[in-house]
Amino acid sequence: PQGETFMGTADTNFAQMGTADEFLQAIVRVKLQLGHSYFLPHCSRERTLDSVNPSDPKESIGRVGLADISSVQKAMDCAQEAQKIWGSTPIAIRVNLLQQIADTLQMQRSEWVAWMVLEVGKPIREADAEVSEAIDFCRYYSEMAEGLHPGYTYDVLGETNRYVYQPKGIGVVIAPWNYPLAISVGMITAGLVTGNCVLYKPAEQSAVIGCKISELISNLISDLGLPQGVFQGLPGWGEEIGPELVRHPAVHFITFTGSRQVGCQIYAQAAQMSPGQRHLKRVVAEMGGKNAIIVDASADLDQAVQGVVQSAFGYAGQKCSACARVIVLAAIYEPFLERLRTATQSLTIGCATDPATTIGPVIDATAQERLQKNITLAKQRLTVALESAAPTSGYFVGPVIFTDVPPDDPLAQEELFGPVLAVLRVADFDQALQVANGTDYALTGGLYSRTPSHIHRAMQEYICGNLYINRGITGALVGRQPFGGFRCSGVGSKAGGPDYLLQFVEPKVVTENI
Ligand code: GLU
Repeated sequence: PQGETFMGTADTNFAQMGTADEFLQAIVRVKLQLGHSYFLPHCSRERTLDSVNPSDPKESIGRVGLADISSVQKAMDCAQEAQKIWGSTPIAIRVNLLQQIADTLQMQRSEWVAWMVLEVGKPIREADAEVSEAIDFCRYYSEMAEGLHPGYTYDVLGETNRYVYQPKGIGVVIAPWNYPLAISVGMITAGLVTGNCVLYKPAEQSAVIGCKISELISNLISDLGLPQGVFQGLPGWGEEIGPELVRHPAVHFITFTGSRQVGCQIYAQAAQMSPGQRHLKRVVAEMGGKNAIIVDASADLDQAVQGVVQSAFGYAGQKCSACARVIVLAAIYEPFLERLRTATQSLTIGCATDPATTIGPVIDATAQERLQKNITLAKQRLTVALESAAPTSGYFVGPVIFTDVPPDDPLAQEELFGPVLAVLRVADFDQALQVANGTDYALTGGLYSRTPSHIHRAMQEYICGNLYINRGITGALVGRQPFGGFRCSGVGSKAGGPDYLLQFVEPKVVTENI
């Protein structure tokens, strides 16, 4: 093993007196700014989308002017011009841009938390951790870019050999709503710091935060005297502008985080050559999961229950890293289930603005209906261990636990992206591993055990990108738990990891006979 551990930004210490008030005051300030309109360059002033608060859908967060196919073409023209300048801009200036993004986010921490609480229903503490993660991405990718910059020297007598990294070219970033700040900032800054111009499509459900990120980065770029084409935000309907962005012949790479279905479409579209295209495109796609936690007979059940509850129901299960299956050894099945039920019952479901809330709403009406439908169908074939009540106004879904779920049931195979947990009973540890590995996905995995041979076997045999032993399986930290999976969970190397930037550069070797 090599390398130094990156030291991330500290989250807010909520135990300190008055801290929660600071965030509540920021929510009040941000509430005064709700309902505004946002029109980014090239976007329509007539066609707009409305973003609403999922805890209280009557509350408008803002109205966003939409990009269409002609906006994409205009933005692409600007990016092509800007690429000539940005691609040869010194690394120190690119790094400086990222540092300024990080410093601004740090200065405006409580406002960004408030926007996330209101637009995507993320509870205050989780939103605070997301601001830290966004800052960490900027600082970590700055360090990594500086490390790549010198390249390698392989000189011999009479000949110099220089291995250097060049920018790939224009990149498209297609971002999710569940980490509207951190994942957007991470994907954008990785493309920018390596010398590529970036076009950024935020998710529709978090379009206002997407516009705010776009304004922040665009303003810093213009302060540096650089052309606006270096970075452009393009909020729009995915079905309308997504394929256009992906297929455009000027695009060199697509960085995507979102559903498996859309990720697979992007992968296929990006593989088609468009007229005038002289290169193949790279796709980096972070998709879904059906992540498991195994609890064996030697597990510390207090720890296991807490880790499973947090991983399954944190942010209402709307994380690709979330625990959707808990695989429990028969010997401790009953006591574990009983404790799991009690712990889940103690969660507080409510508006994300309330500091007491542990589970907020799901993102929108479509998600709520899809989850309710799946829960109703699953109830016809499976046993419910717990179904918590949820507030009726707002897009709430109370946590649901199904028990004795067969490993091949859709509830144990298909990603639901909500607060629904399948408990599976297995006879022994062999079967536990087999069941854990028996899905299309390989993102996160967990094990609660005090048996060294089990821990050792899990390290070798558990098929997943991020394995967590005796802790929860969400909340990967930049530079400490680089994050990402394989199988149908994604393609490309891990976000917040040492290889990530290599995906956005073209290595070149220059040999000179002297
Ligand atoms: N990186 C996040 C975590 O470790 C999950 C990201 C996602 O849901 O896309 O929990």
